[in-house]
Amino acid sequence: PPVVASASADGPDDQERKLRPRRLDEMVGQRDVIERLKIAIDAATGRGEPLGHILFDGPPGLGKTTFATVIPAEMGTTVQMANGAGLSAPKDLLPYLTNVSEKSVLFIDEIHRVPKAVEEYLYTAMEDFRIDIVLGEGVNARTLNFELQPFTLIGATTRAGMLSAPLRDRFQIREHLGWYSDDQLCELVIRNAKKLSVEIDQPAAGEIARRSRRTPRLANNRLHWVRDYAQIKAKGSVTIGVARDSLDMIGIDKLGLDKQDRNYLETLIRVFGGGPSGLEAIAHTMNVSSDTLEDEVEPFLLRSELIVRTRRGRMATSKAFEHMKMAPPTL
Ligand code: ATP
Repeated sequence: PPVVASASADGPDDQERKLRPRRLDEMVGQRDVIERLKIAIDAATGRGEPLGHILFDGPPGLGKTTFATVIPAEMGTTVQMANGAGLSAPKDLLPYLTNVSEKSVLFIDEIHRVPKAVEEYLYTAMEDFRIDIVLGEGVNARTLNFELQPFTLIGATTRAGMLSAPLRDRFQIREHLGWYSDDQLCELVIRNAKKLSVEIDQPAAGEIARRSRRTPRLANNRLHWVRDYAQIKAKGSVTIGVARDSLDMIGIDKLGLDKQDRNYLETLIRVFGGGPSGLEAIAHTMNVSSDTLEDEVEPFLLRSELIVRTRRGRMATSKAFEHMKMAPPTL
């Protein structure tokens, strides 16, 4: 399997890779997570053992994949990248597991999507560095036993609650990645502007940070757009006015909400009178999947206190009505 998927010269993947930190010390925020990981890495290295298996959970874009590439770099080992959605049968695991070298890392993103039948093979792989695979059926069935090199599994999930307890318990280290502060994102924007050779001042970086929903990936995406805009409209230099105008132009508002977030609030308020409404009903009306809403849209709206989840469904808060400049329904 490929170690890292390749991308065209300056496609979005390439841009993302350019800004992705290579070492723990290049990462912003997550200080406590980084401190714990450093201890675990140094201890394992000192003993000459592979690092214990690690599970990262948290909303998208907060650094799970980044950690999964930085940790092997710190340890001077290689990483294979897999996705839970691509491991639909036990045989899909084989190329990865047989390719692991001693102390190398196997990263499985979206590990909650690994089906039960495949998950069971991970148990022995993680615990005893061994897999027993049954090939064929009935009288022709035979079991193949593979000894694996001792390796480290790094799993990432946006849905820790969907992992079965036996799988969850096989990770020695579990880290939750939380949102970044505006100051941390501001630091990230300034650092990455330098990497992209963009001239930017502190207030402009702060404005981009505040409109990035506490998420490094979004801060980077917004910075790329602001850079393009500045190049064409402002001789390449980013001031707070340039940052505001360019982000307004792509529908990113003062709270960092994008069109989809506002579409969610608008639907909840206009169609469902502000709720309570079930997630499925909102998803159907917006014509997007409920998973997308639950993983990518709602966490930030909840965190921003624009919606609440009640037993009867989602409800818009008065802050949401105010932000959307929509009147609450009259009784
Ligand atoms: P997903 O679950 O959607 O794959 P993720 O949590 O794996 O998201 P990453 O791909 O690791 O998120 O992060 C997105 C981008 O944000 C990275 O390319 C990286 O440039 C940047 N990034 C994330 N965390 C940090 C950090 N702590 N410091 C600096 N940059 C970061």
